[in-house]
Amino acid sequence: ADTDMSCRLLVLGSGPGGYTAAFRAADLGLDVIMVERYAEIGGVCLNVGCIPSKALLHAGQVIEEAEAFAGHGIDFGKPKIDLKKLAGFKDGVVGKLTGGLKQLAKKRKVRVVQGVGKFSSPNSLEVEGEDGKQVIGFEQAIIAAGSQAVKLPAFPWDDDRIMDSTDALMLNDIPKRLLVVGGGIIGLEMACVYDALGSKVTVCELLDELMPGADRDLVKPLEKRIKGRYEAIYTGTRVTKAEATKSGIKVSFEGGKAPETDTFDRVLVAVGRSPNGGNINAEAAGVAVDERGFIKVDRQMRTNVPHIFAIGDLVGQPMLAHKAAHEGKVAAEVAAGEKSHFDARAIPSVAYTHPEVAWMGLTETEAKDQGVEYTKGVFPWAASGRAISVGGESGMTKLLFDEQGRVIGAGIVGPNAGELIAEAVLALEMGADMEDIGLTIHPHPTLSETLCFAAEVAHGSVTDII
Ligand code: FAD
Repeated sequence: ADTDMSCRLLVLGSGPGGYTAAFRAADLGLDVIMVERYAEIGGVCLNVGCIPSKALLHAGQVIEEAEAFAGHGIDFGKPKIDLKKLAGFKDGVVGKLTGGLKQLAKKRKVRVVQGVGKFSSPNSLEVEGEDGKQVIGFEQAIIAAGSQAVKLPAFPWDDDRIMDSTDALMLNDIPKRLLVVGGGIIGLEMACVYDALGSKVTVCELLDELMPGADRDLVKPLEKRIKGRYEAIYTGTRVTKAEATKSGIKVSFEGGKAPETDTFDRVLVAVGRSPNGGNINAEAAGVAVDERGFIKVDRQMRTNVPHIFAIGDLVGQPMLAHKAAHEGKVAAEVAAGEKSHFDARAIPSVAYTHPEVAWMGLTETEAKDQGVEYTKGVFPWAASGRAISVGGESGMTKLLFDEQGRVIGAGIVGPNAGELIAEAVLALEMGADMEDIGLTIHPHPTLSETLCFAAEVAHGSVTDII
């Protein structure tokens, strides 16, 4: 078929997977077109995910730290919240980044085409934009169309008091009583934001525990803190119905300690994300998509069609931006003829709640389930001078080592756990053992010392430095 434009490499989607792939490919000399349905590039992560949520979590942290200091001799009083200005701050953070991305694309001569893309053959994509349809021909393609929030059916989604994470990030108001359905990372982060802003928060989770996937001892300090602050936390509880009424959203619960019904001013549904593989007419290109919308790839990120790659949320869990970006690099390099493959040993997970929870490699729960022998080193932050100074006494650093003493897993809970986990990831990738970490001089007094101390605990060589 005739095409209106053509390129060597087409990238479908401009999230952290797509833009990383497009930029890497352009740096390697390929002629690249990136297709994105929205006017702003950057995908979920920049526009309605990682970045705006972290901007608001920071605002929440400022409020909470000020609150905590009322008891330590500095009282700022009750915060006055200008919601419009706060939303403006968040939008400003996002705008700086999406604007920067546009510049980076331009500098690399990556052509960005706006519109909804659907494959029309193994070598062409039809893009429907504001100015009509155009067909882009390509030699190779990388599918990076990401994922979207799962919308529970049986919910009155036309009522704006029912929100997904994107709606919640818009900050339309501060509901008096907010129900968060889903106690995973996204639900708990947004709960944290609205709690700090003054909402009475209830969290409802279907499974028996919050933040499934993380070790219980890591989640405990968070759980303890939010149990004291939130109105209620229902685990092992299903939301069966939500009805829009004049006085609020009336929700029916089943199981756990929840009442039969309760009425909330707003309800945030954060029950997971589903991949967009089913919405791009992949059949026309011969690319296999499973019934859930995931696309299977090999270690070079190739789909079943050798000249078409797929990356990011739509190739599987964990749905994280740093995984998408890493895969994007691999796919671009393979497309350019390099011998790359996905070979990461660990993908860190971080919940940017207060306190933060971070883990990487094997969790202790997985080690037990899989019968893996391990040595554990735990350092409670109540013994760290820096942690006590910054209100992080409930924190903990845990390292797991294999029989040779090499790092196989780590978990951290406390302020900045997300920054601290990076050292453990590097240790694992480098094959570092407990002595490598324990003998490395860490700056004092820092939270990073807790990794060194946890290694010393495992090694049995602890000295009593605080
Ligand atoms: P996406 O970012 O989903 O991008 C896909 C892009 O493709 C989108 O821009 C979409 O518009 C476009 N697209 C889809 N279909 C088409 C089509 N047919 N035509 C044209 N364009 C199309 N991850 C972290 O690592 N850390 C965090 O702190 C974090 N926080 C999050 C907070 C929230 C509230 C949410 C919702 C997610 C968060 N995530 C976080 C997850 C992270 O956003 C995703 O893992 C990441 O964005 C996935 O990148 P991607 O490139 O696969 O796809």
